[in-house]
Amino acid sequence: NNMAEEEEGEAGGHHVLLLPGPMQGNVNSMMKLAQLLALHHFHITFLTTDFIHRRLHRFADIHSLSQTYPNLEFKTISDGLPDDHPRSGNNALADLYSSMNSHAKPLLRDFILSQTAAKPKITCLIGDGFLGGLTADVADEVGIPVIHFRAISASCFWALFCAPNLFESNELPIRGEEDMDRIISNLPGMENILRCRDLPSFYRGTESNLVDPLKSTVFDCHQTLRARGVILNTFEDLDGPLLSQMRLKFLQVFAVGPLHAHAKTTPSTSSFWEEDRSCLTWLDSQPLKSVLYVSFGSIATVTRERLMEFWYGLVNSKKRFLWVIRPDMVAGKDNDERVAAELEEGTKERGFIVGWAPQEEVLAHKAIGGFLTHSGWNSTLESLVAGVPMICWPCFADQQINSRFVSEVWKVGLDMKDLCDRDVVEKMVNDLMVHRREEFLKSAQAMATLAHKSVSPGGSSYSSLHDLVEFIKSASR
Ligand code: UDP
Repeated sequence: NNMAEEEEGEAGGHHVLLLPGPMQGNVNSMMKLAQLLALHHFHITFLTTDFIHRRLHRFADIHSLSQTYPNLEFKTISDGLPDDHPRSGNNALADLYSSMNSHAKPLLRDFILSQTAAKPKITCLIGDGFLGGLTADVADEVGIPVIHFRAISASCFWALFCAPNLFESNELPIRGEEDMDRIISNLPGMENILRCRDLPSFYRGTESNLVDPLKSTVFDCHQTLRARGVILNTFEDLDGPLLSQMRLKFLQVFAVGPLHAHAKTTPSTSSFWEEDRSCLTWLDSQPLKSVLYVSFGSIATVTRERLMEFWYGLVNSKKRFLWVIRPDMVAGKDNDERVAAELEEGTKERGFIVGWAPQEEVLAHKAIGGFLTHSGWNSTLESLVAGVPMICWPCFADQQINSRFVSEVWKVGLDMKDLCDRDVVEKMVNDLMVHRREEFLKSAQAMATLAHKSVSPGGSSYSSLHDLVEFIKSASR
């Protein structure tokens, strides 16, 4: 008790500002970090954009979160985009990135300065590495330490960080479609694992659409050299070889993940959409590990043609499925609620479609036997923790590299990147759910055990979180 009180007294004097990148996955993982730090008695301000705050207010349970954690406060700044500007789809990330960098920078600085009267005043910034330059600049200006948080996978962060070497050794750029299967050798910690097609999506495409996003993402990764350390949502048993390489470059590397698997964090506290919990009731009536969960995350959009290929593939596989089709998921003008309704009509026999699911709870449900995913990092970790094997259909950012690790390094699923036709979908579903079921379930469950071990007392992420807590106290003294 004395020790707890001592810690409370000590950490209670520190006020940590968390600034997530303005995307669902980033907010989800940083919200878990916020909870964990609040449990360690820090005073926490969780700063989101007005747009996100409105969503959280409507669809997430931030009210009860504030009650559970009286030392966790929510504040907002503008992301600089008009209210009706799309926040999903192919250009959303680039738009958010540039508008945050131009508009949000002075707002963030002013916000921190305006808090000098706060009790206690802000002593440390944990800023999303997506906004690496912005957060490092502002921290310098106001004179507080910054630690970067990366919501993407360690493998993607590292591959982006190493981009200049890849250009130097002539392994980049990718020279067109016929070059896609060439093996990349010059990535320390992951030599000869990736093909060109497995590199982060920023490396793809023609010179004109490649250079800008690549430059800014690589640029922001290098900004982490200015931070006191970097926090990654991964664990030693998953990414050990990469983490050892990163420790040669960065001052401190805190591998504290999977964040949502630490005891006492709560699921579903930060959804931007209304969760349709009826799918949990539907799952209750399905046989053990019989259902494939299908979701492409919060940002990816698909054309109507592709959606139909998935639909036919799923239906022809004769397996049960639970499919998330977000209201804004179908690209272009075909996007309309009728798409989901039409598919649903033809799906009733074995399928269930929702607009947004309570994903952590879905993946933990005993009826789930597989996950057809776009390989976003949060989805990947959530699947690993639940011991659910994956079929990966990556779209952009870190998804291409995550899916390669799922299939070739961790061997917990299949990678169908760059393919989208009904026969492939049908075959992959049957391979995962029938022919190679035991093999995949066994390796997925073994990885889940390691994940849980890492966040339990004595585990690597458990200790790393403790190190982070001590580090924040000493860095912000
Ligand atoms: N998610 C959810 N319900 C859904 C679909 C997604 O709660 O129906 C959550 C999911 O659990 C994950 C996040 O949204 O935490 C998506 O993040 P991820 O990194 O997987 O992909 P992104 O959306 O960033 O592409």
